[in-house]
Amino acid sequence: MFKKPTSGPKYYEEVPVSNKNIIIFCVVIAFITIGIIVFTGFLAYKMIQDSKVVPEDLSQYSTVGKKTEEEPKNNRTRRTVSPSKVPSEEPTEEPSEVPSEEPKSTQVQRVSKVTSNFPKHDHGAAIESQLPTYSDEIAKKVVNVYYEEAKKVFLTFDDGPSQNTQAILDILDKYDVKATFFVMGANVDAKPNLVKEEYEKGHFIANHSYTHQYSQLYASEQSILDEYNRCNTAIQNAIGVSTYNPHLFRYPGGATGGPYNDVKQSAISLLRDNQITYTNWNCMTGDAAGSTTIEQMWATLNESSAGDDNLVILMHDAGDKQMTVEFLPQLIEHYKDLGYEFCTYYDIMCE
Ligand SMILES: [Zn+2]
Repeated sequence: MFKKPTSGPKYYEEVPVSNKNIIIFCVVIAFITIGIIVFTGFLAYKMIQDSKVVPEDLSQYSTVGKKTEEEPKNNRTRRTVSPSKVPSEEPTEEPSEVPSEEPKSTQVQRVSKVTSNFPKHDHGAAIESQLPTYSDEIAKKVVNVYYEEAKKVFLTFDDGPSQNTQAILDILDKYDVKATFFVMGANVDAKPNLVKEEYEKGHFIANHSYTHQYSQLYASEQSILDEYNRCNTAIQNAIGVSTYNPHLFRYPGGATGGPYNDVKQSAISLLRDNQITYTNWNCMTGDAAGSTTIEQMWATLNESSAGDDNLVILMHDAGDKQMTVEFLPQLIEHYKDLGYEFCTYYDIMCE
């Protein structure tokens, strides 16, 4: 049995403790415990709130210090696409054309993991307040859009509007997905209401020349710029926004290759001087290049998209491309099932 020491510190002495003291002690402990739980919960809530990204906060675009987020990853090179692997947009006019590498004059750093620099555009916000903008930094992001290692898909439709535009818009509505329309000025003047609807539904309207006639469009650098401006005026008139400028051009037939390659390349600096950047695509359904069945479209898409994370899919909004309308729902479902995020160039070009 424990033998109480006969000498030593006083705390060895037994102190009688009443029931009342025990109750008071337990109540104090209970209050302290509750206090700790509440404080911990508050801290956790604060941390969650702080970690949320505010979509409108695009200041990172203009902050040089943030640039480290997009340092290139050891010269990651793009998969080479051979002419036979990915057919051209308009094989009848430019048989040798392929989705291009960027021209040397705009070869910029490969971007890896720049997810944080692509904040989600707020499609619900006032459209006029979020017009596309141009800066060298934005132009770099546009040119590098394919190299982002993220599961993002950009649905792009060239040549519209057309008699299929409404059906395409209805499908996009059904799946609550936004797309980018590279419209042709002459068609915009013919069907302005469709372009207005595209715009007001939050789709990105970009520029694909006025005439799309290669011999006229590619007659000179200046004619390319003139057609851009003419198409842009048609867009402004259609949507009723006189200040609208997508600052984004997609060369009919692609930015490189074909008999007009030289003038396409030399026009790049003229476009840049006028705050216009350009984009191509890194995969396609082949809807304007030989795919005449759903199966062929899947085959072309799977082949052309292999190895890429971020997908810029070339399709066409044209009267004779009914197959594209039929293909679109399953295309969207496929990439939704795979967890892809659907993006437009608003996600890159708004500040
Ligand atoms: Zn086209």
